[in-house]
Amino acid sequence: TLASVDIRSLVEACATTISAHADELTTLDQAIGDADHGYNMKRGFDALLADVDTLAAKPLPDALKAAGTKLVMTVGGASGPLFGTFLMALGKELPADADRATFAAAFGKAVDAVAARGKSEKGQKTMLDVFYPVRDALVSGTSDAEIAALADQAAEATVPLKAIRGRASFLGDRSIGHMDPGSRSSALLVRAVAETLG
Ligand code: ADP
Ligand code: MG
Ligand code: MG
Repeated sequence: TLASVDIRSLVEACATTISAHADELTTLDQAIGDADHGYNMKRGFDALLADVDTLAAKPLPDALKAAGTKLVMTVGGASGPLFGTFLMALGKELPADADRATFAAAFGKAVDAVAARGKSEKGQKTMLDVFYPVRDALVSGTSDAEIAALADQAAEATVPLKAIRGRASFLGDRSIGHMDPGSRSSALLVRAVAETLG
């Protein structure tokens, strides 16, 4: 079950990948946004790392809720409240003794909470373009390694899309041809979690 998951390893893996890719995320955001996504995400995940002892002492659902609250407070921008909403909703929906099936269901509800918060849906060149395919793969019992690979492909698949939500939507057709920064960071986080659990 997920009850035995090592929260410290998860936080460290997520913070490490965000830190290693912060410049890349900012460069992506430079093309179709305001060039702060890597900086925003690094600030948030560094804050989680600073709190890792407190987070690791909590049961997983409580740790997720606390991490979500922290991200809302520290990431800022559009992505902070959205990633924060995701973790808070996941923590709220996850039973203490979650297995893969209940995790998949809770993940789906958390993605729906992000969509409600962002007034967004799949296909609009946002993080949802990674979250929804991952949700579908979790529901159908796909392996962690395959989920990491399909999250990368889903982020790549945002390149030809036109942005309908977020700052990139101000560019209209000029948003076409660039990867969505929030999709890239989501794929990095999915891979970090999949590799930590797998
Ligand atoms: P900001 O755009 O405020 O500077 P960030 O650069 O940190 O915030 O994050 C931008 C990312 O947030 C986008 O790449 C996109 O994936 C995501 N995003 C923005 N608006 C929405 C929305 N309404 N729904 C879902 N995701 C969104
Ligand atoms: Mg930005
Ligand atoms: Mg910004």
